[in-house]
Amino acid sequence: MPLSEFDIIKNCFASRTIQRDDVKIGIGDDAAVMSVPHGSELVVAIDTLVDGVHFPVGTSAELIAWKSLAVNLSDLAAMGAEPAWFTLSLTMPSADTHWLEDFTTGLFKLADQYQLQLVGGDTTRGPLAITIQIAGYLPVDSAMTRCGAQPGDAIFITGTVGDAAAGLQFLQSGDIKADHSGLIGRLNRPIPRIETGLALREWATACIDVSDGLYADLGHILIGSGVGARLELEKLPLSNAFRQAVERDEQQWQLALSGGDDYELCFCIASEYVDAFTTQFANSTCPVTRIGEIEQMPGMRLFNKDKLVDLASLQSGYQHFR
Ligand code: ADP
Ligand code: MG
Repeated sequence: MPLSEFDIIKNCFASRTIQRDDVKIGIGDDAAVMSVPHGSELVVAIDTLVDGVHFPVGTSAELIAWKSLAVNLSDLAAMGAEPAWFTLSLTMPSADTHWLEDFTTGLFKLADQYQLQLVGGDTTRGPLAITIQIAGYLPVDSAMTRCGAQPGDAIFITGTVGDAAAGLQFLQSGDIKADHSGLIGRLNRPIPRIETGLALREWATACIDVSDGLYADLGHILIGSGVGARLELEKLPLSNAFRQAVERDEQQWQLALSGGDDYELCFCIASEYVDAFTTQFANSTCPVTRIGEIEQMPGMRLFNKDKLVDLASLQSGYQHFR
């Protein structure tokens, strides 16, 4: 017997989510009610993933669910916020029990890891699309934004860049070897940098999560802050798997700068705090790499070992991923 909308809400969602003390009314009423800690501000983000647009048709439900939540968590990480609750709008062509089981497995694997409670949503029939709205909080006036970078600030990035873009390229070309699984994993199962975002709140003058490629997203910081930047291409943190899979320098830079789906944090640190920051983060489980400097002159200038690199020479790769 097909599942009714009410069965789905009860069996797949209401009974599966954790219960937080700060949720007064969760799934089941007309709206959810939560209490925000005294002295905190509410932080909200939303993202939609559409079948065939944000993930290839045929992607497993578990991975779709994971990614839908992970991209939202990444937005809160970039603000330095502590995630707490989320709502889910699920539109799907039919109520397939196995698909829903896989979907909830992926969803709650990630949600439970961050003590996130699903507090409501909407369930409708139609072409597959998933919208998640996430909410969390941070101390009053402590949000990291795109607008605070100053000339002289050092530019940092967490983790490695380009892996997901390389994974996508291999998936699309059908050239999948066993040693590409790590890269494809980065594409399908991004790990949001929540703990790092919380720690950066004390340090960063500006922060953004890299979803559309480092070039575009650092560009948002530059525009928002009314500054420019110098980027050192040879310092871009690249994984061993990426270096092995993508050999030429130019190709590496293209993917690392303009491929999307990294979900790393790009942030700026005032020059006088760089040494203290680097010492503090030396033993962090999340590596951070200094990749450039904020400058007064607008625009982004790319250098390879102190030699200016012509952006046009990287354009073909850039277009390829637009
Ligand atoms: P209404 O018609 O008042 O909007 P619904 O029948 O859509 O109510 O939803 C009933 C309850 O189930 C609400 O609390 C709603 O937030 C919750 N809900 C519906 N769909 C989902 C979902 N996909 N995930 C979590 N909660 C959901
Ligand atoms: Mg509704």
